[in-house]
Amino acid sequence: MFWRFFSFFVCQLAGGLAGWYVAPPKTAAIGALVGVVLGGAGWLLIDLSRAVRLLRWLRVGDASDVAMSTGLWGEVSDRARRLIRAREQMTRDSQNRLQDFLAALQASPNGVVLLDSEGRIEWFNQMAATHFGFDAQRDILQHFGNLVRDPGFASYFANHDFLSELVMSGRENTPARPVKLSVHLHPYGEGRLLLLSRDITALEQAEAMRRDFVANVSHEIRTPLTVLAGFVETLQSLPLTDQEREHYLTLMAQQADRMQILVNDLLTLSRLEGSPPPGASDAVSMPALMRQLEQEGRALSAVLNPTSERLHKLVFDSLLEGEITGAPNELLSAMSNLVGNAIRYTPPGGEIHVRTLLLPDARAEFSVSDTGPGIAPEHIPRLTERFYRVDRSRSRDTGGTGLGLAIVKHVSQRHGAELKIESTPGKGATFTIIFPASRVRPRLDTMPGGQLGAAALLPAPSQ
Ligand code: ADP
Repeated sequence: MFWRFFSFFVCQLAGGLAGWYVAPPKTAAIGALVGVVLGGAGWLLIDLSRAVRLLRWLRVGDASDVAMSTGLWGEVSDRARRLIRAREQMTRDSQNRLQDFLAALQASPNGVVLLDSEGRIEWFNQMAATHFGFDAQRDILQHFGNLVRDPGFASYFANHDFLSELVMSGRENTPARPVKLSVHLHPYGEGRLLLLSRDITALEQAEAMRRDFVANVSHEIRTPLTVLAGFVETLQSLPLTDQEREHYLTLMAQQADRMQILVNDLLTLSRLEGSPPPGASDAVSMPALMRQLEQEGRALSAVLNPTSERLHKLVFDSLLEGEITGAPNELLSAMSNLVGNAIRYTPPGGEIHVRTLLLPDARAEFSVSDTGPGIAPEHIPRLTERFYRVDRSRSRDTGGTGLGLAIVKHVSQRHGAELKIESTPGKGATFTIIFPASRVRPRLDTMPGGQLGAAALLPAPSQ
């Protein structure tokens, strides 16, 4: 401020002196006065021009340019520049924060849609675009209800009762491939709404499977239980001869066996699902396993054909002189299920061919072929589902639980093996388990063509 006054007076003084010097001696005083006024006016003009420059800079200037560096206006411009810079930094910071939030919302596994108080879309993430088929260019500021025309959602939105979520069909929902979405609205801000969506198709399917499973288990257990309860009542209420009593007790024992087999299969399945895949520390000798399967198979065929008039023709070709690593009890259970099925579903006199083989690529194959009724192609993809049966009565009559192939599938998966089912209806079926080379320990002298494949590097079998 001092310099402002000082420069003002210096200008006036210089003007006065100049006026006094220039004017004739008689009017020197008037000349000096005019000089003072002109000096002051000149100073004000310069000052005004600086103020105008500053104002122009403030209106359109770049904050990095310094409008002027000296004097009062210099200080004003400097302060203004700093303020503008601080404001710009704050804006940049909050924009960065906003971008971070939006990036986090983009990364969310849930669909996120921000709606204004009228239900118009302000923003949505990629997952929401996938769930509802939105287009980022086209659909911003569109009414959500106009784009998602679901009657359930319309009443959910209209009722303004957002305590619970809504389950609705997804955009790509078809009867063959149902897609279910869970949608939940959360009010925030001034009448705004946050919409969260989740694809719950897998959850719904798991829940439906769980319900079906419980219903199936209850049904399977209820049938023998009802029969058993009937016999108990008969034994309690009717006077029976020893022979009749013996007969009823035999039938009761059969029903109890049936329940026991079912419970055992259920326990096996739950163990298979709940435990880690078996390692390579244990192994089963395939020739020994084949001998056991043959014994069991012949016994089962004899049980199913008590008169022994027309037993099955059982052929066992044990061409793999080695071991499969994994859980021996699981492998025995899976393979005996396949042999058992072939015997149970093939009419007496039919032929069952069980074979183990080392493939040229060092994988191993276990297959069971029969000359039974076979399976129609539409059933094949569903055979390994729990309780799925093609021939319900034959399954029950021969002691089937409907869980055998589910067990086979689980055991195969746990050993990294592939289960193949091939069938020509009316001619028979072939079930094959193909074990990966990493699970096979062949005997070196039995490698195909004497070649030493990768499996030859594995330790020799302990026979
Ligand atoms: P189950 O205890 O009823 O035999 P599985 O899971 O072992 O149950 O088999 C499922 C269904 O697959 C059976 O009910 C049967 O209809 C069919 N199936 C299985 N193996 C054979 C086979 N070798 N020949 C014909 N049908 C078979």
